[in-house]
Amino acid sequence: MFLEHSTDTVAGRLKESIPVTAAINPRESMRALPRFAQPFLTWLTGMPLIDEKPLVVWTPVGRSLAAFAIVISGLLLGCLILRFSNWWLFGLPVSWLITANGIRDLYTVTEHYCIHDTYSEVHWVDVLVGEVISTVLLAAPVDLFRADHLKHHAVPRLDSDPDVLFLKSTGFHRGMTRQEFRAYIARTCVSPVYHGRYLWSRIVSNLTAPAHRVAMTIVYVVILCCALTLFHGWTVWTVIWTVPAVFLFQVASLVNYHSEHLWDDVSGATGREAIARVCVGRFCGEPVPATDGRGTFARLGLWAIWWVRIFAVHLPHRLLILPGDQSQHDLHHRRPRSDWANAAFVRRDDVLAGAPGWPIGYIDVWGSLVDHLDACVDPYGSKKIVRHAPTAYRAPLR
Ligand SMILES: [Zn+2]
Ligand SMILES: [Zn+2]
Repeated sequence: MFLEHSTDTVAGRLKESIPVTAAINPRESMRALPRFAQPFLTWLTGMPLIDEKPLVVWTPVGRSLAAFAIVISGLLLGCLILRFSNWWLFGLPVSWLITANGIRDLYTVTEHYCIHDTYSEVHWVDVLVGEVISTVLLAAPVDLFRADHLKHHAVPRLDSDPDVLFLKSTGFHRGMTRQEFRAYIARTCVSPVYHGRYLWSRIVSNLTAPAHRVAMTIVYVVILCCALTLFHGWTVWTVIWTVPAVFLFQVASLVNYHSEHLWDDVSGATGREAIARVCVGRFCGEPVPATDGRGTFARLGLWAIWWVRIFAVHLPHRLLILPGDQSQHDLHHRRPRSDWANAAFVRRDDVLAGAPGWPIGYIDVWGSLVDHLDACVDPYGSKKIVRHAPTAYRAPLR
């Protein structure tokens, strides 16, 4: 379906010789929109245009500060909403979503790269930053995160992958149909058992970590309890913090652990082939509407639907499930020491270069949260998956 929104929209100078990938890339269809909208669309989709230059070149610290600022913004918005009360309370989900985005960014991006020692390149700094984040979020301490996650890198999607063991413990099993999988996700996201067990595991991991790390948790909890009691903040904290930090965090975890890799059977594969077959880039959005030959009202209607879907479907997905470089999680598996703070552009260039050194090209999945979940459980049946050639194939446009 993506072929119909093909290379016609690509800038003229690229028309002589264009990577085959551009012909099946919905992002390219968005060139039809004004230039000022392009950085937003790049952030939202997770995919730059093939000739786009980054508006900002990020540093790891810059990424973390931005995530921290997002958390503070979400919390302040929540405080304001509670202050005005009444109808304003309907705005609380927006504050929860913003806070959850910042929290998930700090955990799945900053702490994640700290445990890989690719945050500051100074080991003790990475450990310190990771431990502070995990303490405040009541998330997996650095040692535990590192041990589990390095096993995940060694055997993604095999039965010994800790992420696979976790997902199986929530009721997932290989071979689910799309319908069974959707029902299981919906059921688990609201399951008190799932959330209770997950929260308990977070508490236990924070109290069974190395002594210095347990001390950090105890000091943090004592200070937090004293402050909330002194300033009568328990109700506000419960509303604005625990919903994103417990409920939404754990929903995002479940969905992210599934959709960040494909449930391809790689038990018979080895090495880079086994890794490449289960790694996927997740991109939000869809081609712009085809309006040629339509009347003014039809055109306006199609564009209105497209923009409503951008803000009501794709934006919440991007915020909750795909903070930071989660869209480019496959780049991280293929090239763990790449410039993750600018992953969207690094991945694009690696795709265009043909993924040198890899036997299988990059795999993209486009669309909504449902499309991404369908693709992960049905990787050879999904029409939203694009498989790139593993070499820099260039073909002239017709
Ligand atoms: Zn990793
Ligand atoms: Zn992974």
